[in-house]
Amino acid sequence: MRAIDPWNVPKVIRDYGRLFEDFGISPFNDLLDRIDKPHRYMRRGIIMGHRGYEEVLNAMQTRNRFAVMSGFMPSGRVHLGGKMVMDEIIWHQRMGGDAFACIADMESHSVRDIPWSKCREIGVNEYILSLIALGFDIEHGHIYFQSANKRLLDLAFELGTVVNFSELSAIYGFSGDVSISHMISVVVQNADILQPQLLEYDGPKPVVIPVGVDQDPHIRLTRDIAARMRMFRVEERYNEKEQKPYISIRVKQASEEAFDALVRRLEYPKKVYEMHIDVVDIDVPFETAMHDIENIVRGVELEYGGYGFFMPAATYHRFMQGLTGGKMSSSIPESYIALTEPPEVAATKVKRAKTGGRVTVEEQKRLGGIPEECTVYELLMFHLIEEDKHIREIFEECKAGKRTCKSCKSEAAELMSSFIRTHQEERARAKEVLKEHGLYKQWLDA
Ligand code: SF4
Repeated sequence: MRAIDPWNVPKVIRDYGRLFEDFGISPFNDLLDRIDKPHRYMRRGIIMGHRGYEEVLNAMQTRNRFAVMSGFMPSGRVHLGGKMVMDEIIWHQRMGGDAFACIADMESHSVRDIPWSKCREIGVNEYILSLIALGFDIEHGHIYFQSANKRLLDLAFELGTVVNFSELSAIYGFSGDVSISHMISVVVQNADILQPQLLEYDGPKPVVIPVGVDQDPHIRLTRDIAARMRMFRVEERYNEKEQKPYISIRVKQASEEAFDALVRRLEYPKKVYEMHIDVVDIDVPFETAMHDIENIVRGVELEYGGYGFFMPAATYHRFMQGLTGGKMSSSIPESYIALTEPPEVAATKVKRAKTGGRVTVEEQKRLGGIPEECTVYELLMFHLIEEDKHIREIFEECKAGKRTCKSCKSEAAELMSSFIRTHQEERARAKEVLKEHGLYKQWLDA
């Protein structure tokens, strides 16, 4: 199996199809019909995969509790890539999710060697201001710095009891020279993902983590950890002899008292053994029984000092290409657009971006352009045009040779500078809001 390294942006994973096969990521498109007003990233296949999102969707649709969380590493300027994650958090918050945004300063400090004061400065003035400017509801959501979150660090320590070096080494390729702090930052990120399920935030619930596909190793590891922290394993099984499904509940690390409490609380026909219970002859719809039993088991786990975690879900978006072709790189400012740069600079970058156009206008008219390879088209599709019909027209006109790259770039540059200008006005307002709440200074001085 190939490794995807979350700390080094992959060399543009072109063959997304293989991710489905190699890593078991499910195609997001299959869920699209079930979503009432999908975000444009969903409609346009930009969010292309998921793990376990069905549970989040069920909660969303039945108005049950769910959460969304993702993080930002404060190591450079906030750019359009970070905006994608912010948009996804905000969309889920508007759909009723309890929203968490983490500034991963411990990761930044341990992996990139960024000084703490710089982490705070970048965290607040780049990421948090843009997040709020884009629409994050600070009254109802949670924004935090890892290093200032005692509850998170306690959870990370606890999670660390079920993860060892060999495992981190196999997943991330860590060798003997990786610092202990880097390893700690991994379990802190696991804790970031599971924290929304703590009792202080209303307990276990489905949580979705919107991320780029390079973050999948963290998600897989955290899902494993969530399962390891459970006291019981609840599974659907099938009795071949009786040709009937049943629900098996096995003790993983529950005390005798917890097991006895569970036996007392399960008002279903059951067979009780020394270390497990089989719920049999279920006379209500199987899914209802499963849901109910999961809730009862979680209730017992919480009462006896466990966590009752749901396995966290994830959505995976694909990456934009760098504007100069190839991948975006913080060391090549021309390859990305920062949300904090002057609008006219952003517009100039768009005008200089690599297109999928032909060498001459004559050829463009005759052969048509290649929007699939065009970074300007990507900007329009990912960020600048909401209406699907409009995007489709641009695609078709490009293909048919009815657009010139010059006019197309001018349109995109105009839209980009207008977006950046408005965003920066919103950022100024967001700063005032943070100051009113006393948070701006508090975060900078933390
Ligand atoms: Fe890209 Fe527009 Fe040129 Fe087509 S016409 S290749 S979409 S810049």
